[in-house]
Amino acid sequence: MDFDNGCCCGCNTADKELAKVNKCPVCGNEGISVSKITVEHLVAGDYRKTIEGDGYRICMNEDCNVVYYNTNSGVKFSKDQVSVPVWFKKDANPKYACYCSKVTEEQVIEAVVKHGAKTVQEVNAITGAMKNSNCKENNPLGVCCHKIIQEAIDKGLNMK
Ligand SMILES: [Zn+2]
Repeated sequence: MDFDNGCCCGCNTADKELAKVNKCPVCGNEGISVSKITVEHLVAGDYRKTIEGDGYRICMNEDCNVVYYNTNSGVKFSKDQVSVPVWFKKDANPKYACYCSKVTEEQVIEAVVKHGAKTVQEVNAITGAMKNSNCKENNPLGVCCHKIIQEAIDKGLNMK
């Protein structure tokens, strides 16, 4: 069950409380809720042992060093404690568009610019992206990479 958007007992007072504590402990930006499964899969090696409970968030601020944090337990994981570069963070290298098939934004743009792909399907056929999808574990947000690929296609189309 997922209690991210409210208190598990159904009381109204929790909402305000949650909104206040859901901010990144370092930069203060509001984070996006991420499944514990995703955090467990992507946090590197021994740091995994400190993962407890639910309520993980990811900081979407590109300049912030924090990736995952949990304001309930006070645990946070920075970029160097996560096993993959997070594409929207500054200096992410390589910049993956599809984490499951390890296809980079560069490869997607190349498929658009050099091979004339215009849709996600065409890009997938050329790059092999979105094969064996397991986004829940591989994508830092735990969501399908479809949207990131689309953004990379748009970038490529604008370069033409
Ligand atoms: Zn932050």
